[in-house]
Amino acid sequence: MANNPYLSVVIPVHNEQESLEELYKRLTQALDKLGKSYEIILTNDGSTDKSAEILQELHNRRPDQIRIIEFNGNFGQHMAIMAGFERVRGDIVITMDADLQNPPEDIGKLVAAIEAGHDVVNTHRESRQDTWWRLTVSRWHNKVRAWMMPKLVMEDEGCMLRAYRRDIVDLMASTGEATTFIPALALSYASNPVEVAVGHASRAAGESSYSFYGLIRYNFDLITGFSLFPLQVFTLLGMLISFCSFVFVVFLMLRRLIVGPEVEGVFTLFAILFFLIGIVLLGLGVTGEYIGRIYQEVRKRPRFVVRRVIEKK
Ligand code: UDP
Ligand code: MG
Repeated sequence: MANNPYLSVVIPVHNEQESLEELYKRLTQALDKLGKSYEIILTNDGSTDKSAEILQELHNRRPDQIRIIEFNGNFGQHMAIMAGFERVRGDIVITMDADLQNPPEDIGKLVAAIEAGHDVVNTHRESRQDTWWRLTVSRWHNKVRAWMMPKLVMEDEGCMLRAYRRDIVDLMASTGEATTFIPALALSYASNPVEVAVGHASRAAGESSYSFYGLIRYNFDLITGFSLFPLQVFTLLGMLISFCSFVFVVFLMLRRLIVGPEVEGVFTLFAILFFLIGIVLLGLGVTGEYIGRIYQEVRKRPRFVVRRVIEKK
């Protein structure tokens, strides 16, 4: 391409028919105001509502600037962004949600940070507008994440309005992982990241695509993708328990020699046993999470399938 745009905005779309028109209006307005050349890449992640038609229509309105990637099923938010990353043409890449929870007007702030020399611009949401249970889960999750993955310096990993320099995006697109968490992946490649505050609104229309269970799966992706900590906990726990059992055995042996054989205390023994079985099961589960993901990767199935790309060549 002779004249590549300066900015690429990548947006995953899953059942967002109510938001797309408003998104188009506010986003193009905000970008036009910046006065830089830009493209908007929208990935239709297997929407079952009218999103596909609306996206086609948006492309028709600005064929030079709006490119649509259409998946042939639902591959998840991060894969939808990845597909955009594989095709970006701009020097600076912005990711954001389609539901307008991230204000497009804040893009200028992110671009300024990249221009100031940062390669990754993380964000945290000022006065976050979400349901109370999302806020509570998120607060605890952020604490646990900070503790398990101290290298991931991020105040708020859920906010997807972020900016990346193109070389970081190319690196991310080339990793080929099927389960990943883009902000964390970006940080692992960043040499000069920064964090800025952006606004946050409640969802104007439509519904969150994430159920409670969905959020749990999503967080497992983050944890298993970027940390071996859960596995190491079981190694350490195993060592600790082995040591305690050894002391216990020595104690029982001495007791038998000195006091004589014992028959009481069977239920205490059961309690200890059940507790240990619980730990073993949990450990198996955690190991299984990792193995499942390893299995996914080694099967080498395509991580997403693009049905078609609507763009002006
Ligand atoms: N999304 C997607 N595929 C999915 C789930 C979500 O492309 O399987 C998109 C969705 O359209 C939105 C963004 O990812 O643009 C964030 O999703 P959502 O607003 O449902 O999540 P929340 O804001 O509740 O975390
Ligand atoms: Mg949202």
